[in-house]
Amino acid sequence: MNDIGSQDLRSVIRTIPDYPKPGIQFRDVTTLLGDARAFRRAVDELVQPFAGAKIDKVAGMEARGFILGGAVAHQLSAGFIPIRKKGKLPWTKVSIAYSLEYGLDEMEMHQDAVHPNERVILVDDLIATGGTAEGAIKLLKQLGAEVIAACFVIDLPALGGADKIRKLGVPVRTLMAFDGH
Ligand code: AMP
Repeated sequence: MNDIGSQDLRSVIRTIPDYPKPGIQFRDVTTLLGDARAFRRAVDELVQPFAGAKIDKVAGMEARGFILGGAVAHQLSAGFIPIRKKGKLPWTKVSIAYSLEYGLDEMEMHQDAVHPNERVILVDDLIATGGTAEGAIKLLKQLGAEVIAACFVIDLPALGGADKIRKLGVPVRTLMAFDGH
């Protein structure tokens, strides 16, 4: 398998204009996930700053964060924590409301998914306003986790999410940025 460059990584993201509504440019990572070299490269780049660091768990946000986060956890020999939409987890949960573009939703995590002082990395495919990641970080911190970093393949800097997360004191790693929404 030949190596794939960062520019090629960007070119395997599919952009769908006006999805799911007018004005939104949907950045589709399924084309990256379906490309063996690109998927490996993305996971390698996401974990690169943490190689050799002691990471206990990787938390991934439903649903694309499960795919990337699972691969990152495997690579770091860490456990995986699924953060899910309300009503999906079967055991005792903690939950938090988070803001979407229009209105609120709730995300949940099992209460015993993380233990105090465990070192956790958060993973998702994309950060836009940062509302989803902020909710996940609050849940993890509520259970006493130390959130070491939040990692995303794609940043939409115009929406300010990465800056919002950095202001919470959590370093942010992103592999590429796209203009606009
Ligand atoms: P936010 O909470 O605003 O940072 O939104 C992040 C979540 O919404 C991530 O789980 C993304 O998968 C999804 N998302 C937001 N905007 C886009 C977009 N333009 N293209 C693809 N996914 C998006």
